[in-house]
Amino acid sequence: MRFKRLGILFFGVIGNLMGMLVAPLPMMKSQDTQPEAQAVCPTPVLSRLKRHRLEAGETLESIARQYNLIPATLLGMNPILQQQPVTPGTEIVIPPYNGIQVNIPPGRSWQEVVKAYNARPDVVFEVNGCQTQPTALFLPGVNWSPKGPPIPALSLLSGYPLPQPTTMQMGYGWQLNPVLGRVVFHSGLDLTATVGTPVLSVGAGKIAFAGEREGYGKLVVVNHSSGKQTRYAHLDQIEVKVGQSVNLGDILGTVGTTGQPDSHEPHLHFEIRYNSDLGWVAEDPNPYFKVKQ
Ligand SMILES: [Zn+2]
Repeated sequence: MRFKRLGILFFGVIGNLMGMLVAPLPMMKSQDTQPEAQAVCPTPVLSRLKRHRLEAGETLESIARQYNLIPATLLGMNPILQQQPVTPGTEIVIPPYNGIQVNIPPGRSWQEVVKAYNARPDVVFEVNGCQTQPTALFLPGVNWSPKGPPIPALSLLSGYPLPQPTTMQMGYGWQLNPVLGRVVFHSGLDLTATVGTPVLSVGAGKIAFAGEREGYGKLVVVNHSSGKQTRYAHLDQIEVKVGQSVNLGDILGTVGTTGQPDSHEPHLHFEIRYNSDLGWVAEDPNPYFKVKQ
């Protein structure tokens, strides 16, 4: 029953895509009979991978050319090819067309995974044999990338707030504050930099504040479309105005010692906050930097 219902759902998707432009496909007349449903679902791509034994002298490019694929498809399907060197005799798998294999993490639906990759659910459903609860899927037309699975762009602030990665004087969270001599909550990161170093926006956004604020000193606040906010404090100079749009890497000002810095050594105090019912809540910026190193 379950299969049949999903079969109908699938035909429904196709039907919607077709709209009123073309006559219904013959198979749609008998959409509630299982044999027809099976007829439109090919064997899943992952069950019909070809095997290829590597021979001396072959290259990633030459094998890709032989099977009319792009090298990224072979790299993604065969993690062993991502290491060097690969010994002749090693067997690799060859999909019938370009795409990647993804595993469905426990607790996630295949539809969520397909959405994260911006793939078409109706196409993915069909090439994977109309499975209702697959544990792995082949996503046709999605290119493998060494950076790993795509992270929804909106959640990513990909830049670094200074021209070069630098040492962290004080991390996020409860920290012994050397100036105050007691443990206080530190809402951002203190990144060592000399006075006058350019301070850069870590992502595209709009200037929400540019001026003096108690404790922060000269402060620039950028609101990003993802519901995130970044703050750059203790600046010497501010070079943007409220309402101005900025892009990743744009100069917001320069490192200074204004306000009440948590150490006497010049640094940029950098914060990431997210919008919530409680207002802008600080979060640990460290995870955003892992992609840089
Ligand atoms: Zn600080």
